[in-house]
Amino acid sequence: FRSNSYGESRSVEDESTKNALRVAEHYSARSNQTLEEREASPIIHLKKLNNWIKSVLIQLYARRGDSVLDLACGKGGDLIKWDKAKIGYYIGVDIAEGSIKDCRTRYNGDPDQQQRRKKFSFPARLICADCYEARLDKYLRDDAPYDICSCQFALHYSWSTEARARRALATVSALLRPGGTFIGTMPDANVIIKRLREAEGLEFGNSVYWICFDEEYAQKKFKSSNPFGIKYKFHLEDAVDCPEWIVPFNVFKSLAEEYDLELVFVKNSHEFVNEYLKKPEFAELMRRLGALGDGNQDQSTLSQDEWDVAYLYLAFVLRKRGQPPTS
Ligand code: SAM
Repeated sequence: FRSNSYGESRSVEDESTKNALRVAEHYSARSNQTLEEREASPIIHLKKLNNWIKSVLIQLYARRGDSVLDLACGKGGDLIKWDKAKIGYYIGVDIAEGSIKDCRTRYNGDPDQQQRRKKFSFPARLICADCYEARLDKYLRDDAPYDICSCQFALHYSWSTEARARRALATVSALLRPGGTFIGTMPDANVIIKRLREAEGLEFGNSVYWICFDEEYAQKKFKSSNPFGIKYKFHLEDAVDCPEWIVPFNVFKSLAEEYDLELVFVKNSHEFVNEYLKKPEFAELMRRLGALGDGNQDQSTLSQDEWDVAYLYLAFVLRKRGQPPTS
């Protein structure tokens, strides 16, 4: 674990722990929705689009029998995607106790439901921990190395301090096998900063989201050279309402290289959709998920406001340096 270049103090660490707890409380409090509630969500098509993006990433990189580490796994929304990829083993870690509980129920099947779902074909271990603070490199060493690490819509929660951002990357690097893949999605800092510059004040958004920067961060942080701890408040209808942090992608890329993680690609979600929708198998998956409607006039489709939210995110793939072991 390398030294900290920006001299973060104890009070910065305490503040970041408090923020991590706020994030955990927010996600823990979000209970599982029924199918009807989910379909009535004002961002249902955005949720489906994000599921499609994660499915494409998993289908592109997961191989039969892979050992998978899912950092910030949430309620296990990706379990079925991993099952379809026929992985061999899964470890999910999340800071929110409520989410881990829901994830466990999803994996084991709900005992209150008469019809229990088909069992997942892979064994799983679910752990409640702060992925950006706990020494997962030690705790999860017995099951390492992993073929794939996934961190979906959550890596930006590590960027509150340099120490946490480094811990996240050190963990991924220590647990991935040489040649292993790190896939993820997170906010696209370039788009967020562009939108902030275009905004009249410190806040911008549309009918389904808003982002608000504190005066303190907008004034001080954009002038300082410290790329960590640039906080904003993010609200997304029926999904998110908590502090988040800007992840300047060039800094992320350089820091990842320090931990032997090389960039394979980064694409804004719009670019990702436009590119992979050209492939017939992924177009068919999109049709089945119904994110963009299916051309049927009765079926609603992704709204412009939801499409604008999609533009706030990017997908990335990194590869752990070294040659995979020959079998
Ligand atoms: N990856 C899941 C998915 O795509 O469905 C969940 C994404 S949700 C937007 C963000 C998740 O990050 C939440 O489940 C939250 O509890 C988790 N999270 C935030 N900070 C975390 C931390 N420090 N350690 C572990 N999990 C964290």
